[in-house]
Formats: sequence, C-alpha cells, structure tokens
Amino acid sequence: MGEQRKEIIRIDGIYHCPECGSRRILIRKQCVVYKVEDANSGKQLNPNTLKAQMSNREKAWEYDKASGEGVGCWNYECKKCGWYSEIYTE
Ligand SMILES: [Zn+2]
Repeated sequence: MGEQRKEIIRIDGIYHCPECGSRRILIRKQCVVYKVEDANSGKQLNPNTLKAQMSNREKAWEYDKASGEGVGCWNYECKKCGWYSEIYTE
C-alpha cells in the first residue's frame, strides 16, 4: 500500500493546490501529434506538403492543434510548491 496522493481541490470551478492552496495549477495532458515520415529513410516530412522542410512555425502549429481527445490522460501540478497529482484517465 503506497502513500495516497492528495487530490486536486476545486472550489467554484477554480483549482487549488491541496498542499499549499495556490491557484497556480497546471494541467499536463497527453496529446496526439500525427507525424509523417518516409517509411524507408525515416526522414520527417511536412504533413501538409510532404516535403522534408518544416519550419519552426509549422511545428508550433502542429503542437497547438494537437488534441487530447481520445487520449484521455492528464495530471495536475502546482507551479508554486511542485505538488503533482496522480495521472487521471477518462
Ligand atoms: Zn502547491
């Protein structure tokens, strides 16, 4: 029997840290990013143009549009004291 992690506290829709009471709560969630690679060379391709060049801006866009839907895996973390919750799944 391991030590039970404290659960996130939610009051009126606002998340609070169960350790220090801070509202500086982060959610870390797993998201799906679809990559396109050349099957033989393993080279990463731009998923839109299928060319090898991919700008940092395009990479950032892929990150931003990555969805957590269907993955359903996340945890909470306090930015102030470092507390973090267990991993929740849908
Ligand atoms: Zn805290």
